[in-house]
Amino acid sequence: MINYLDSMVKNPKVFFDYDISKECSMGVGGRVSAFISADNFRELSEVYLLAAKNKTRFIIMGAGTNIVFNGGFLDMIVVKLGKGFSGIGIREAEIEAGAGLSLQKFVVEAARNGFDLSTLAGIPGTLGGAVCGNSGDICRSVVSIDCMTEKGGREAVELSREDFGYRHLNINGIKAILSIRFRAPKGDRDVLFNKVRDRIKQKKAAQPTQEKSAGCFFKNPYGHSAGELIQACGFKGFKYGEAGVSKKHANFIINLGRATAEDIYVLSRIIYDKVYSHYNIKLENEVRMIGF
Ligand SMILES: Cc1cc2nc3c(=O)[nH]c(=O)nc-3n(C[C@H](O)[C@H](O)[C@H](O)COP(=O)(O)OP(=O)(O)OC[C@H]3O[C@@H](n4cnc5c(N)ncnc54)[C@H](O)[C@@H]3O)c2cc1C
Repeated sequence: MINYLDSMVKNPKVFFDYDISKECSMGVGGRVSAFISADNFRELSEVYLLAAKNKTRFIIMGAGTNIVFNGGFLDMIVVKLGKGFSGIGIREAEIEAGAGLSLQKFVVEAARNGFDLSTLAGIPGTLGGAVCGNSGDICRSVVSIDCMTEKGGREAVELSREDFGYRHLNINGIKAILSIRFRAPKGDRDVLFNKVRDRIKQKKAAQPTQEKSAGCFFKNPYGHSAGELIQACGFKGFKYGEAGVSKKHANFIINLGRATAEDIYVLSRIIYDKVYSHYNIKLENEVRMIGF
């Protein structure tokens, strides 16, 4: 196993041979070599550099709401940003917040201080995950990020919208986003709270928010809605093993109870094949599939 982490075993935030399904909203996945919660930059870079030196795969995760790990054993270290990365600082024209902060807490705190980030309301996960996947087009408000580089150092990077694509951030050499600086239009607090509430209501009406999922499974192909294509192929309510296609929104694959990562994966391939054969369109995963 990964003996080089032995010196950190005293640390209660290091767990070996860890069941990663507990950390993912889909509730599936197997075991990973180690799962670590890092509370400060020193801990994070120490683990990263040890992993790099020993050629062990290192992955950073947020709240696990857009990620599915293979159901077998994965020799990798998964690091989650702990409480030390969830601070928030409000200035006159800008907000700076830790990448581990919940996106929903951030949206509410922003509204309380008169910043309109209501388009992000109702999206689960952390700020780091949202910036990494450009969730809800968060790129419209991001000014810069503080990050850990490939060499384990710390660097601030100014960002513009061009640095983001559809559900991704196009910057090479970044191993972890640590904090983010935002700018957003200002408005009246009560108006903003109403906008946030409306947005959450809309999401609840359109998405199976009470089910175990990882959000929209596939990206929308250019000029199409993935959900509409999947629905048109008759998949709403379709099941494979304990994985199913939501009856509410066809682009949501849900864990019906005891789904395995393989159930989710196979169902996604069945959908992919049928959409391809009917429409000649290759769906691309929006959910990050690790170890498949
Ligand atoms: C019910 C439901 C509804 C959803 N609705 C939406 C929606 O409307 N719009 C939308 O865009 N998404 C939606 N999602 C998907 C998901 O919530 C977002 O993609 C979210 O931003 C992911 O954040 P996370 O912290 O959970 O990231 P994770 O799932 O933990 O990770 C996702 C990716 O980000 C990387 N990552 C995470 N944190 C960091 C970091 N600090 N530094 C570097 N990389 C990092 C991980 O390595 C991984 O590749 C929904 C999900 C669910 C379950």
